[in-house]
Amino acid sequence: VNKWGSDTFNHYLDIFNSIDAVTAGIFLCPAYEMFHEPVPDPDWSTIVPSFRHLSPADLAMYDTQKIYKYGFAYDTIIAEGRLYMEYLITKIKSFTGRATILTGCRVESLTELSFYGENFAAVINCTGLGARELVDDASMYPIRGHVVRVKAPWIRYHVEAENKENPTLPAYIIPNSDTIVLGGTKALDDDDLTPRKEDRDAILARCIAAVPSLAASEFVEEWVGLRPGRPSVRLELERFDSNGGDMPPVVVSNYGHGGSGLTLAYGCAGDAVELLQKEKII
Ligand SMILES: Cc1cc2nc3c(=O)[nH]c(=O)nc-3n(C[C@H](O)[C@H](O)[C@H](O)COP(=O)(O)OP(=O)(O)OC[C@H]3O[C@@H](n4cnc5c(N)ncnc54)[C@H](O)[C@@H]3O)c2cc1C
Repeated sequence: VNKWGSDTFNHYLDIFNSIDAVTAGIFLCPAYEMFHEPVPDPDWSTIVPSFRHLSPADLAMYDTQKIYKYGFAYDTIIAEGRLYMEYLITKIKSFTGRATILTGCRVESLTELSFYGENFAAVINCTGLGARELVDDASMYPIRGHVVRVKAPWIRYHVEAENKENPTLPAYIIPNSDTIVLGGTKALDDDDLTPRKEDRDAILARCIAAVPSLAASEFVEEWVGLRPGRPSVRLELERFDSNGGDMPPVVVSNYGHGGSGLTLAYGCAGDAVELLQKEKII
């Protein structure tokens, strides 16, 4: 996982250092995290630049409410999902003659793909939670996440603050180019896409406790998404004997990234390509 994370981080850094940074929604951002007790360094501490522990004096500057006892800081990459996806789609469309883009169609079975008039050498299955039905993967489950978007242009850093009542639910504050994302929730096996007032209120309360100036922010919108949960990412190649049927001969599964799809995307995509190269399919 660390390799997937570092390959992805380096890919985003390359975009950040290119003319594409703005359209792709990729930028570098200072970050700090605060905890009630000391915690081990995260695995990714060696991937991000400038990882350092906060001294008591540094912590006191960030934690004006004197809630936290421990913290670290680093520089991170923000990848704005909405912009980055648009950027990728535009890039794929530019592969004239080499890419067929079908939008808005739900595939009920992998055998159905032959009806789109192509003889696919391989299919890469990146359907996230959809793999539950598409390939009958019963280990997939939804992890419901609710976020709130506000206007607070004075916030130019990422913050994560531990929640004592529920350590799996930290307050997080993620600056985007025009708004700030406040989160979050993590409800396993909950696939209700309707935002709940109690979640919104709890998110705002936790984020305002960590960064009091957010009380002056302006609400823009909120949304609920389903992270594709799985005990581990599924990234593997299978060959199928179609026996004259319509099953694609090769399927690479690349799904089940839980809450880390943006963090691992490029590294996993690289491994998917490598699997195809090893099998001499591309
Ligand atoms: C609230 C929230 C916060 C998040 N925060 C982070 C974060 O901080 N860091 C991070 O790295 N990631 C984050 N994510 C991203 C996320 O957790 C996932 O890991 C990521 O979206 C997975 O990407 P994916 O492309 O594999 O799956 P998805 O994004 O679920 O995309 C799957 C696509 O396949 C399509 N599909 C499925 N089945 C079919 C079918 N049968 N036929 C046709 N199309 C189909 C779906 O419509 C969808 O477009 C967050 C997500 C949420 C909801």
